[in-house]
Amino acid sequence: MKLENEVTIVTGAGSGIGRETALLFAKEGAKVVVADINEKNGMETVEEIKRAGGEGLFIKLDASNKEHTKQMVKETLEKYGRIDVLISNAGIVQDALLTKMTEEQWDRVIDVNLKGSFNCIQAVADTMIQQGKGVIINTSSVVGLYGNIGQVNYSAAKAGLIGMTKSLAKELGKKGIRVNAVAPGFIMTPMTSNVPEKVLELMREKTPLRKLGEPRDVANAYLYLASDDARFVNGTVLSVDGGLVI
Ligand code: NAP
Repeated sequence: MKLENEVTIVTGAGSGIGRETALLFAKEGAKVVVADINEKNGMETVEEIKRAGGEGLFIKLDASNKEHTKQMVKETLEKYGRIDVLISNAGIVQDALLTKMTEEQWDRVIDVNLKGSFNCIQAVADTMIQQGKGVIINTSSVVGLYGNIGQVNYSAAKAGLIGMTKSLAKELGKKGIRVNAVAPGFIMTPMTSNVPEKVLELMREKTPLRKLGEPRDVANAYLYLASDDARFVNGTVLSVDGGLVI
């Protein structure tokens, strides 16, 4: 097992990529904190982990709320005593063209995707520094690398995460903490479930591998980066997109 007894927090683990990651990490021996704004879905993830014989704990979290992230760390330490891995995966989209985008849409997407990661990382940092060991993974996106029409808020947040990842890799590397990002392409999850078939077909055509991604594709990338296999990998952005350039 690649993560035996590693205490791992996965934000946004109630759905999609986060849920798949929580299940995979538990199978690999991790004690998984399922942190999500959606209580019902988060509890379901924990039940699924337990049914498979794993160890999990649900903590309700709005990543954009600093107090929530502090409470998440407090409860994790009370239950498990340490934090080895943070997968900062929670994210939302609220798409609109620039001229139609409201201030609320801009603020909420930046608050959850970008500030949410900052909050979570700041909350776990002291513990990881004291341990002299830790792994942090941010969830960027292909749109953070290439941009996308209708996603000026989301692409700014996801590009911001890349800058944050590279800065923190420098700042925290000497403390024994690795910080990396994953940039998924088009992955079939509830987030993308409303996309019309015509657009899905276009995305398939634009992807050299001629298919769309599944949550397990990203979960496996997280697993690699979280495990000791990636012990010399720091400050990188791992694209999981089938070769897509948008
Ligand atoms: P998803 O299925 O919508 O899952 C996201 C989870 O995060 C949901 O359980 C959601 O709860 C939760 N969440 C929303 N706001 C939150 C907050 N403020 N605090 C804590 N949890 C919150 O999405 P996904 O497709 O798995 O995406 C996971 C990550 O990958 C996101 O960061 C996303 O931006 C990124 N990504 C996805 C794709 C893709 O094609 N799917 C591509 C590139 C990057 P609710 O369901 O109640 O909202």
